[in-house]
Amino acid sequence: MSHAATAYKHSGAIGPAGFIVPVFGIIITILFSYAYAYASVYSPIGGVITVILLIVFAVGTGFFLSVVGYAAKCRNAWFMHAMGFLTSIFALYTSWVVFVFVLMRQNGDFEQVGIQELFFAPDSLWELMQSINSTGWYSIRDATPSGTFLWIIWGIEALVIIVAITYLASASLDSAIFCEDCSQWSKTLSSFHLAPTDDISFLEKLMAGETEILAELDANHETLFPRITVDLYSCGGCTETNGYKLRVVTLEVDKDGKTNEDSEDLTGLFLLPSNHFKKLKELGDRPAPEPDAESEVGPEDEGDAGM
Ligand SMILES: [Zn+2]
Repeated sequence: MSHAATAYKHSGAIGPAGFIVPVFGIIITILFSYAYAYASVYSPIGGVITVILLIVFAVGTGFFLSVVGYAAKCRNAWFMHAMGFLTSIFALYTSWVVFVFVLMRQNGDFEQVGIQELFFAPDSLWELMQSINSTGWYSIRDATPSGTFLWIIWGIEALVIIVAITYLASASLDSAIFCEDCSQWSKTLSSFHLAPTDDISFLEKLMAGETEILAELDANHETLFPRITVDLYSCGGCTETNGYKLRVVTLEVDKDGKTNEDSEDLTGLFLLPSNHFKKLKELGDRPAPEPDAESEVGPEDEGDAGM
C-alpha cells in the first residue's frame, strides 16, 4: 500500500543563481580573504587564535555562499558544491596574495608593488611563499615553524578551506522545500513534539513517510527529552505545497553539568497533500501534558547534583 507522503527532492533548477552566486561569491571571498589575511598577520599570538581565524574564514565563506544560493533560489545542491569548490580555490589564492602583501609591507619590503600586481603574478607569489617558508614568519613558544613542517601546516590549512567551503556551500538549501508553482521557498509553519519510541519497525515506517501512524504517539511537552519533533513547512503563496520533517531531540549533559539540546534528523523532507497535511497539523494541536517538577529536571545522573 502506498502512503500519501512523498520524499521531497529539489527540481535541480539553477535559475538566476547561475550568475548571482559567482558574482557574490567573488565579492564575499575578497572581503573574507582580506579580513583573514590581515587578522593572521596582526594577531598578537599564534596557536589557538590562528585555528579560530581559519575556522571563521572557511566556515564563514561557505555559509555566506550558501545564503546567497538560497536567496538566488538555487535548487541544485551540486551546482552549489561546484561553486563552493571554485570559490574555495579563489579564497585560498586571494588570501595568500593579501597575506604575502601585508607581511611584506609589515617588514618594510614591497613599497613599489601593488596588491593587484601581485594578484596577477602567481610566479612572484610562489617565490615569495617559498622565501617565507624557508625562514618561517611567526613563533610559538620560542619555536619558528619553517620548511617541511610549515608546508604541512599550510597544506592542512588549504585542505580545511577547500573542504569546508565546498561542503557548506549548499547548507542553506539542504533543509528547505521550494514551491515550483509560486517560485518561492516554503517557510517553517510550526513545530510540535511527540513522545519518543524505541519500536524499530515503527521508526522504519516513519522513515518511509508513513505519517498516519504518528497519531499513535502521545503529545510531548517541549521540556521533556528525548522527544520526536515534527517541523511543518508550507508555501506562503499557494498553501498547496506542504511538507514536514521529523527530528529526534535529546538533552546532552556535558562534563560541566551544562545541558544542551541535540537534534538529529529522523527523516528527510517529505511532501504531503493538503488534506493529509491538515490532519498532521491537527495532531500538533493536541494538548501536551504539563511536565511534573520531578521530570523537568532532566536526566537524573552522575555528579551534577550541585546545579
Ligand atoms: Zn506555492
